[in-house]
Amino acid sequence: MGYNKKAYIQTREIFKNREERAREDAFMRKCEVEAAVPEIREINKSLASAGAEIAIELARGKENIEQRINALRDKNLALQERRTALLTENGYPADYLKPKFRCDKCQDTGFVGIDMCECFHREVIENTIRNSGIGALVDKQSFESFDLKYYSQDARCLNMMKNVYETLKEYAEKFTLNRNSVLMLGATGLGKTHLSTAIAKTVIELGYDVVYDTTQNILGDFEYERFGRGYNTDTEEKKTDKYFDCDLLIMDDLGTELSNNFTVSCLYNLINTRINKHLPTIISSNLTHKELKDRYEERITSRLMGEFVIMPFAGTDIRQQKMQ
Ligand SMILES: [Zn+2]
Repeated sequence: MGYNKKAYIQTREIFKNREERAREDAFMRKCEVEAAVPEIREINKSLASAGAEIAIELARGKENIEQRINALRDKNLALQERRTALLTENGYPADYLKPKFRCDKCQDTGFVGIDMCECFHREVIENTIRNSGIGALVDKQSFESFDLKYYSQDARCLNMMKNVYETLKEYAEKFTLNRNSVLMLGATGLGKTHLSTAIAKTVIELGYDVVYDTTQNILGDFEYERFGRGYNTDTEEKKTDKYFDCDLLIMDDLGTELSNNFTVSCLYNLINTRINKHLPTIISSNLTHKELKDRYEERITSRLMGEFVIMPFAGTDIRQQKMQ
């Protein structure tokens, strides 16, 4: 399990800038105040040398050390109080010189000691969702907004979809890397994309790296790479690496892509490599079992039928129901 690498790096960068910005703003306020109130500049100077004064006291021996350190501390506290009073007298807020962090717990560094701060975790998740491909779908298509009433025309269908919904919800909420791969089969408009998005969001929120896209776009990236466009250096990460490496790959709409020998062999390689690496994949398709067999080579369909848990979707096109 790992955060999405790109999202993690982006977030580190955002936090670094945010922390620098907070300190820079505080520095500018300090300069502003010192220019306006010279006594504060003197106080700041004294306070800045407090550490050195303590070191001097310590070096002078142990005699009365506690008393001498306490005297220094009292002097510094008095200076700080005087500074706060001066700020207020001159019309500044009492905390005007303190850096304004968005998160006081980690002071915008993203870490408390060696532990990741909750605020950093949240932002990595948000950036992962943004990078995952689910983008704008994420708010509309959740487990909560999935409505079983659209399947209630007949009891068998409702039962079946209730089972699909509960199985996939449990799959997402208890996701681990060695979970099964899933093949969602069923006609268009039965909620396959909705549940795929809901799974992606839930699994990302658990801290896993999820990539979601249509099969057409995914295979398009392989074709793009085949012709070597866009890659100038050997070190540049390949666009398709993420499909092999992510914790969960969700491929929407298998069967709508333009297929040729090259894309079919990429598809096989991708599915097979992920199975061998014990990384789960979720594939959805409007094709029937027979249509899949007719369209793809035996080596692909035998992987799909043998290694994937098949989830059949039933019902009447929800988009059409909503229009009526
Ligand atoms: Zn924080």
